[in-house]
Amino acid sequence: MDLRKVSLATLPSVGPKRLESLQSLGIENVYDLLFYFPFRYEDMEAKSLDEAVDQEKILLKGVVASDPVVFRYGYKKNRLNVRLLVENESIMVTFFNQPWLKDKFETGLDVAVYGKWNENRRALTGIKVIDVNNDDSIDSVYSVNKNIHQKTLINLIKVAFEKYHQEIETVVPEYLRKKYKLLNDEEIVSGVHFPKTPQQSDEARRSAKFREFFLFQCGLQSIKREDNQKNLGIIESYDKKFIQQFIADLPFTLTDAQQKVVKEILGDMDSDHHMNRLLQGDVGSGKTIVSVIAMLASVTAGFQASIMAPTEILAQQHFDKISKLLAPLKIRVALLTGSQTKKEHDFITEDIASGKTNIVVGTHALIQEGVDFKNLGLIVIDEQHRFGVNQRKAMRQKGDNPDVLAMTATPIPRTLAITTYGDMDVSRIDQLPAGRKKIETYWIRSQKIEQMYQFVAKELSGGAQVYVVTPLISESEKIDLKNAELIYDKFNELFGQKYQIGLLHGQMPNDQKEAVMNDFADKKIDVLVSTTVIEVGVDVPNASVMVIYDANRFGLSQLHQLRGRVGRGEKQSYCILIADPKNEAALERMKILTSTNDGFVLAEADLKMRGAGDLLGNRQSGLPEFKVGNPINDINILEIAQEEATTLFENESLMNSPETENLRVFIKDEFDQLNNFD
Ligand code: ADP
Ligand code: MG
Repeated sequence: MDLRKVSLATLPSVGPKRLESLQSLGIENVYDLLFYFPFRYEDMEAKSLDEAVDQEKILLKGVVASDPVVFRYGYKKNRLNVRLLVENESIMVTFFNQPWLKDKFETGLDVAVYGKWNENRRALTGIKVIDVNNDDSIDSVYSVNKNIHQKTLINLIKVAFEKYHQEIETVVPEYLRKKYKLLNDEEIVSGVHFPKTPQQSDEARRSAKFREFFLFQCGLQSIKREDNQKNLGIIESYDKKFIQQFIADLPFTLTDAQQKVVKEILGDMDSDHHMNRLLQGDVGSGKTIVSVIAMLASVTAGFQASIMAPTEILAQQHFDKISKLLAPLKIRVALLTGSQTKKEHDFITEDIASGKTNIVVGTHALIQEGVDFKNLGLIVIDEQHRFGVNQRKAMRQKGDNPDVLAMTATPIPRTLAITTYGDMDVSRIDQLPAGRKKIETYWIRSQKIEQMYQFVAKELSGGAQVYVVTPLISESEKIDLKNAELIYDKFNELFGQKYQIGLLHGQMPNDQKEAVMNDFADKKIDVLVSTTVIEVGVDVPNASVMVIYDANRFGLSQLHQLRGRVGRGEKQSYCILIADPKNEAALERMKILTSTNDGFVLAEADLKMRGAGDLLGNRQSGLPEFKVGNPINDINILEIAQEEATTLFENESLMNSPETENLRVFIKDEFDQLNNFD
């Protein structure tokens, strides 16, 4: 029986009111109720006194040794005191504001009390009185709200289980349950809710986690499959010779890794497979040129292509580089940003709509209304983690099912690759261009700042260009941070005689930002003092020193991104972190950063330290929420579940066999829900 279709009203004692309170917990049917798992357990096995630990919860059994007394104090407050004889010791038990418990204590009676132990006073603050004959040694604890009690919920689950346990259909196919020694769904439900021993709950939870991850992965697989079948992609028959020639004419040779991903991307574009691909490559690995090749291919196939970047500075930089690269090929490139005048804007959008423009580089301005393409074949989203799900969707809607290439330097920890990006194909550039040297990273405390000045002086005299990053500009935050202007003045005072110092921040008008960036790129500026506007994408290969003030205020990924602005040429590069970490976590970040340049290691650490939502800066694009499984801690189970789901979906005959029937029905019904997940 499909218990998702069985109403809760079929249970005794569930009326309209109770239905409503269950709904407030997201429980809509009998299936939901049975799979509404406890989030923790309380050990209800009676312990001996010498096992009692101060301030920890414990169950003690004893004999009532005094008449209970209730003291009233304050407004509606009271306290119940009773003495228990436990292993020949008289223990004081106190209950707050539960005067009715008085009836449970009769001198000479055996009782069991669960509560918090106070070692000093040899006393127990009671939480509840347990039936001495109770043989459940573990109590499940559920997340509830004010509409419904723990007790009520547990009883309802028990009732539902008694009535329907034979109807619970197992969704994980038998061959997998055998292979991984997993329980069936009836055993999972009973083991998770009503375990007799901790081992039993562990075992049931292990199976429940696999089940949950596996169903999720099957959902992703079916989305992927649907996407391929329903949305026949555009076939972009690009000019292969032309592309080959373009690659051969580049000022550098593509790395093997770049060649590999180019092949993967062009392969998708050339087929009717709708491309939904994530290109991941550490900072400086050369993603831009890969996207330019893809866009060029799209243009030679008669389509328009577009690249969206998260900041104006980055869009401008892409525009400059791409126009320069493509100018000899008579490809028309346009830039669209929010700070252009209406006249400019109209002029540009007109050419986009008519198809005169082949490649459009832009910021969020691209997804606004009034920007219409003639025939958009490929969308590139640079630094995709900086965009929200909705922005990425809006971009897709600018064409008729265009191919999508999302790029990111933030390495995708395994957890996210398997969950959030599970429906995308992933290409990885796992190699930096030849000749790059490892960036050397140092951390100093602010009292040693003189050392940094000396170091910068030395590097400047050797012809280096320096970035100095300051967290925030004066007016934007009240927190006492050294602001960009102050630091700019300081550098001017120290080095202004001999060197050119520049200032860049988000509040500057666009043309001014552009002028400063150009001057830095042309080496007319030696030291660029900047806010984090340069965090992503900015590419000035000659810059080789990065100084970051108040580094303890940044997250690991952000620091790695900032550091990635140097080490882009052949010069030895340095990163100096100035930080006075105020807590363990910040100290840990400094240590990790100085010990590794590996973005993947950093992203994994970041995910652990901050949680996925934060890492991505967008709740929606963070990890999906699971009920029993924790995608970070249970990564091993998650990975196996993913592998098995992928394998199953590739196996047509297994997919159509009776063994997977329950699973198929289950996924099909859940599909709509999963489909809303980007
Ligand atoms: P990211 O992957 O961080 O976006 P970019 O695309 O900005 O990196 O590339 C970093 C720098 O490396 C750029 O200056 C780019 O021209 C250069 N570059 C890219 N590919 C190669 C290569 N195969 N050999 C040498 N330099 C390269
Ligand atoms: Mg980039």
